[in-house]
Amino acid sequence: MSNACRTGRIRGSRPCRTGPGAPPDTFPGVIVLDGAPVAKRLGEEARAAAAGLSPPPALTVFLLGSDPASQTYVASKTRAAREAGVRADTVRLPSGTSPEALRDAVVKASRDPGVDGILVQMPLEAGHDLRRVLDSLDPAKDVDGLHPENVGLLHQGRPRFVPCTPAGILALLDHYEAALSGRRAVVLGRSELVGRPLAALLTARDATVTVCHSRTRDLPAVCREADLLVAAIGRPGFVTADFVRPGATVVDVGINRLQSLDEAPENLRRSERVVEAIRTKGRVLVGDVDFDDVARVAAAVTPVPGGVGPLTVAMLIHNTVRAATLRRAKS
Ligand code: NAP
Repeated sequence: MSNACRTGRIRGSRPCRTGPGAPPDTFPGVIVLDGAPVAKRLGEEARAAAAGLSPPPALTVFLLGSDPASQTYVASKTRAAREAGVRADTVRLPSGTSPEALRDAVVKASRDPGVDGILVQMPLEAGHDLRRVLDSLDPAKDVDGLHPENVGLLHQGRPRFVPCTPAGILALLDHYEAALSGRRAVVLGRSELVGRPLAALLTARDATVTVCHSRTRDLPAVCREADLLVAAIGRPGFVTADFVRPGATVVDVGINRLQSLDEAPENLRRSERVVEAIRTKGRVLVGDVDFDDVARVAAAVTPVPGGVGPLTVAMLIHNTVRAATLRRAKS
């Protein structure tokens, strides 16, 4: 990965671009892996494919409760779907909806021939068992790629629907022509949503993959072995330069909302961007990576926001169009 950066095979970036919100030339030399152009291209491809389908692809999103972050995510997903010519319906279920009622609604959408893709927005409220909800879903409509049948297909190397965030990370790395074969990749986090499927994808691309988690010993030392380090743990600013081998590529999946400096770890309290955003807006979005610190040593790094996030949405639309295409081909 490091060679790829030095020889310019990671392309399409601005080598001296700033970190998000930072003054110009703060991070000379680091390549900021911008998700926006990749998401735009994927959106255009999905739009072209959707235009060839009649009726147009249809996505149903289940939104349980009133979590503000989930509402924002669902709004951006349905907006992106419509922009791509995909019909998007949101089924809003009130807080306190029983697990049985949620499952019944998902089963109904699974049986509805007019629905191509189904997404259950996470996290679910306490008392709901995500596994049981996913089990009740038609795997042919599982555009999040989390039904056991789709998980199995991915791990057998014949993916049908790849979970959106890992698929987006691969698309981003491919866009910047990051070499993967034979490289050491460390995935920090082992969730079913991100860490595990990403490890499967990277392994399939001939990377040598280590998956770390909360019980991993000597975490910074393990991470320093990586040519590619992916952080998906939900801990603001956790990954510092100490975790990063000079010249490595770092992908930050984390999305953490801070509303005061008290919520920030000490290292992030030194970030001008964080301090300024909290002072002026009373909130800031940060990743699992301390961008300012890591940008001193990494060859390439994704920003938060603007790195992986847009690709997660783009991949949802991609999967929905794929689901519609596969279903139309069957009927
Ligand atoms: P998750 O299900 O909570 O899993 C977190 C993982 O991180 C677990 O495997 C956990 O280890 C590990 N972990 C937690 N603290 C750790 C520590 N101190 N040291 C080492 N490992 C630690 O999280 P997720 O759903 O994968 O999401 C992770 C982050 O990505 C969150 O911030 C989430 O908001 C974000 N996210 C972003 C996108 C996007 O589009 N950008 C999409 C999905 C998720 P154990 O297994 O041992 O508990």
